[in-house]
Order: sequence, then C-alpha cells, then structure tokens
Amino acid sequence: MKRICAALVGNPNSGKTTLFNNLTGSRHYVGNRPGVTVEKKEGLVKAAGKYGYEVTLVDLPGIYSLSPYSPEEVVTREYILFDKPDVVINIVDATNMERNLYLSMQLIEMEVPMVVALNMMDESRKRGDVIDVSGLSRALNVRFVPISAKTGEGIDDLLKAVFDTVKFHRAVMPEGVYKASVKDLIWKVERLVWKQAIVKNVSSKWASIKLLEGDGLVRETLDLSEETIRRIDRISQVYDMESIIAGCRYGFIEKVVSGAVVRKDNGQATSGKIDRIVANKYLAIPIFLLVMFCVFFLTFGQVGIFMQDCVNVFIKYLGIVTETGLKKLGVQELIIDLIINGVLAGVGGVLSFLPQIAILFFLISIIEDTGYMARIAFIMDKLLGKIGLSGKAFIPMLMGFGCTVSACLATRTIEDRKGRQMTIMLLPFMSCSAKLPIYGFLAQCFFKESRVWVIFSLYVLGILLMIISGVMFKNTLFKGSDTPFVMELPPYRVPILKNALRHVWERVEHFLKKAATLIFVMSIAVWFLQSFNFKLQYVESSESIISVAGKAISVIFKPLGFGSWQASVALLSGLAAKEAVVSTLNMLYGGVHVFKTPLEAYSFLVFTLLYVPCMAAFSTMKKELGDNKLALLSAMWQTFIAYVVSFLVYLVGKLVLT
Ligand code: GDP
Ligand code: MG
Repeated sequence: MKRICAALVGNPNSGKTTLFNNLTGSRHYVGNRPGVTVEKKEGLVKAAGKYGYEVTLVDLPGIYSLSPYSPEEVVTREYILFDKPDVVINIVDATNMERNLYLSMQLIEMEVPMVVALNMMDESRKRGDVIDVSGLSRALNVRFVPISAKTGEGIDDLLKAVFDTVKFHRAVMPEGVYKASVKDLIWKVERLVWKQAIVKNVSSKWASIKLLEGDGLVRETLDLSEETIRRIDRISQVYDMESIIAGCRYGFIEKVVSGAVVRKDNGQATSGKIDRIVANKYLAIPIFLLVMFCVFFLTFGQVGIFMQDCVNVFIKYLGIVTETGLKKLGVQELIIDLIINGVLAGVGGVLSFLPQIAILFFLISIIEDTGYMARIAFIMDKLLGKIGLSGKAFIPMLMGFGCTVSACLATRTIEDRKGRQMTIMLLPFMSCSAKLPIYGFLAQCFFKESRVWVIFSLYVLGILLMIISGVMFKNTLFKGSDTPFVMELPPYRVPILKNALRHVWERVEHFLKKAATLIFVMSIAVWFLQSFNFKLQYVESSESIISVAGKAISVIFKPLGFGSWQASVALLSGLAAKEAVVSTLNMLYGGVHVFKTPLEAYSFLVFTLLYVPCMAAFSTMKKELGDNKLALLSAMWQTFIAYVVSFLVYLVGKLVLT
C-alpha cells in the first residue's frame, strides 16, 4: 500500500467540496457561494484501495490566483510550497474556463505534479459546448480529465490519472506563454536566484516570475540578499511587470481555449442578433443618438422638471422660513441679505439641479450595465480611429460628461503619449455635469417647450467640435500616432439596480460636497463683491465692485449677443466652478433677464459649453499633459473656438430670425 497526499486546489465555486465529498464519502457543507471552505479539510479517498494506494485528500480554500493577496491564497500557496503534496488536483470549472485556467497557469508555473479535473462536464454538455480535452492537455502540458463531481462521472479516470502523475510526471511549463522580451527578463532574474531556489527546493523559473511580479512572500522565502533584491528591482521596475505577466498568461489562455473549445452560446447568440441591428454600419449612430435623446428627454423633460420643482419649492419655503425667523430674532439686515440672497440663492440655485444630475447618471449607468456602452465604444473606436485616437480614449471621453478632472486621470490607461495628450486636450469639449445646471436654468427660462432639443443640441455641438478639433490636432500637433485597440464585447445583460444606484450616489455625493464647499464660498464671495462698492459701502449690485469688473470686459462679448456686465461676471465666476455661473446669475440684480432674446441666451450657452474649463480641470490637464505649452494652447484654443462659434451662432441666428 503506497501512501500519498493529494491537494485539491481550485477557484471558489468550482466544485471542490463536491468532489472532496464524492471522493472521501464525507459530508462537508456544499455551498453555492464563494468562500464557503475556509480551512483545509482532510479525508481518505475511498476508492483508492483497489489501486493499491492510500490517498489523503486535502481540501484547500478556494482561490482565484496564487499572488498572495488574500489569506486563503497564502494558506493554499504555502501548503503547496512547503508541505509538498505528492500531487495537486486542480479542479477547473469547464463552463468558466478562461477565469479558472488563470490559476492553473500559475500552478503549472510552479512545476508541481498536477492533474486538472475538468469539472461540471454535465453542465457544459447541457449547454452544447464541445471541448477538445486532449488538445487542452497537450497545450498546457498537464493531464485534463473530464469529470462531473455531482454525478460521479469520470472520477475513476481522475484517480488513475492521479496515480500516473505521481509515478511518472512532473509538470513542465509549456512553451509560448511569455513573449521573448519577458522571457529574457525571467532568465535574467533566474540567473540571480537559482541557487537559493535549489536550497529552498522551489522551481527557480516560478520564483523568478513571482519576483518580477513583485511578490513579497517569495522574496522572504528565498532569503535573498539586499544586493540581489536591488538588482531584481532594477530589472522589474522598468515596466509594469505585474500586468505584463498577467497579460501574457491571459493571452496564452485565450489562445488555448479558443483552439480547444467550441461554445454553442446562448447569451452570445442573442447578443449577436441585437448587435446586427444596434452595431449596424448605418443604424449605429442614429440609434445611439436616439438613445441619448431619450436619456435627455427623461432628464430634462417632465420627469426631471417635476423633481426639480419639488426641490425648488422646498428651497423657497426654506428661504421664507429662514427670513421671517431671522427677522423675528432681530438679525441685521445685511446678514439676512447674505444668507438669503447670497448663500441660499447661490447654493440653492445649483442644488435644485441635483435631481436632474441623478437621473442622467442613473440612466447612463443603466445603459452601461446592459453592455450597450461597450458597443458604442466599439463603434466609436472606428470613428475615433479616423481622428487618430484609439478606442481607449472613449472611456475618458464618456467620463468627461461627468467631470473633466476624473476623465483626465482616466486617460492614464492610454499608453501612447501623443494619443494621451490629444485625448486630454479634447476632453473639455465633452460637456461636464457642472454645466448641466447652466443649460437647465437658461433653457427653462427661454425655451420652455423645446428645451430638451436645445440642451441636446449643445451636447451634440460639443461632440462635433471635438471631432473637428481632433482632426486638426492630428494633422498638426500630434502627427503620426496610432494605437491599436482590442476590446471584448460582453453579452447583453439585464442591468443591476444596485450598480446604478451606487454610481448615482457617487455623482450626487461629489455634487453635494462641491455645493457645500466651493459653491458655498463662491456664493459668499460673489455676494460680497456685488453688495459693496470700492469704498465698502452697501450698494445696488449695478454699482458694486463686481459690476465694474463686469463692465470692463463686457465689450468683448457684445458681438456675441450678451454684452451685459452680469453675463461677463457669470462667465468669470464659471472659471472657479461651472455651477457658479448659475448661482451668480441667480444672485445678480437683473440676473437672467439680461438676455433679451432666446438667441442671446443660446449664444451664451454655446460659449459656456466651449470656453475654458474650470480651474480644477485646467490644473489637472496641465499636470497630466506634462507640458505647460500644450495646456496653454488648449486654453487658448477653447477660448478661440468658443468665441468664434458663439459669434457665428449669433450672426446666423440674427440673419435667419429677421
Ligand atoms: P467549492 O466552492 O469549490 O467548494 O464548490 P462547491 O463544491 O461548493 O460547488 C459549488 C456549486 O457547484 C454547488 O452548487 C454544486 O452543487 C455545484 N457543482 C459542483 N460540481 C458540479 C458538477 O459536476 N456539475 C454540476 N452541474 N454542478 C456542480
Ligand atoms: Mg467549498
């Protein structure tokens, strides 16, 4: 009777416990959620006797990979490394192969004797998948045995494979996982650590890969000298080795799986049918515009307006109650003015747009969750490609509708420097959510019935000018930069409400914080500047400090149709935060009524859409561009475009309307 020890390793929910129970006959709890098995459990394999073996089976906690990120992963890895089981049974969920094989790849890299139990074969067959099991075995250099832990199918074959492996086999890394440049680095590290690896009895190749990934545990295990560690760091710090290595593994797995598995997909098939319409060459853009229009209709149409009115009524009521309360208390007139006409008018005016922001982002995240956004990114990739951007630019662009600052940071995923800089310079054209209150505010005042169209037109105008600017940049500043873009299209799914709500909350929280800090301070500052003159006398706003400044620059805007000092002041305050445009207009005497016609208001809207972004966005752009000249150029370009387009809008509007 030979005694051996076998360790069961696999992803959570791959059926480990079920297999363990099947083999040992014990009744451990089988759960359908990750992380049910917390400690390792041992049992004797019943059927081993007839082959002349006594097998102790150890059920290790379910893990996704072997990098020591979670306690479960550490337990499992240390067990494999130091307790050295005679064989590892790696259980793989055949219906979820790509994800499961990532762990297998790492086990194979450890070059421990192992067998892969390809579980859930019953399920896989039911789905109509066809798996070339021996093809998988050849590609990965380990035995794959198809089983079903639930029905017991293939269990005997699995045992036989286990005994064979113990006798003859030691896993050897398959060729072709790592590209030559990475292999070179692995080899360099291996030369530094192979002696220590022999001393500690671990595979030196595996240790080298782990060290390149920056694995601290392996460092400790191997007892490396300071000098060696420094040299390894020097090798690995050049690139982001962790993701490069992960990328190689995933790439290899993808290749192997696509060669050995033919899926008869259910979700995929319907997705394909939907895509034939939605991603159609001619229909894609019109459908996208239609979807976006529906989003705008819900946001700015009756639903949004109703919710906004509720908030407005509340704010008005709050104002009346506060004012009478303060008067009763005998508070100074000036202070009351500050609170009511400064803070409440400023912050309140902006806050009333909270419902619309919430609706907009709720709808966008619902659309994202269905998988439709990925299609749009795919379609946009072609379009973006025409102006020399990769599809990777799409996500930052999309985020630009939220906030230019975070969109700027999101461009870090674009490796190509020129492409990244160009994307950053185009971001201000995506109308950020801080501008939404401005659109809402003026559109309601001047366009009533057609407001949704007006706001929609602004967003579209922004995108069009982004494309035009992109073409110009591509042919001047950023000649000849190209990055290919590979994207996986997920199948369509029913969106999850919780995801959408979390997304909305992030936006709302950001908005509230900004209202409570920046907008609050701005409101007080603007109130102060519009309440006093230079001699610090309390005056009408038309004689205040701010009006002097406003009057000085208002001439510039005369040709654009909004030459009043109030409009100029509002634009100036918008440099701090775009929402401030609304709070300022709300506060100033005459405020919104300074626009005499809808055309003047529209020209003003176009200007706010296009002119320089707020200071926070600009300084982030400057930092991420890493080039002050480009940042300056971008600001000048925005101002120029804003001026020219507003002028044209006003001019053409005048000609058409009279
Ligand atoms: P563990 O987390 O890896 O221990 O996985 P479990 O053994 O708890 O199994 C997770 C789920 O998969 C349970 O609902 C099992 O009933 C189910 N399951 C396990 N093996 C099979 C199998 O071969 N076929 C099918 N159809 N289901 C299985
Ligand atoms: Mg379990």
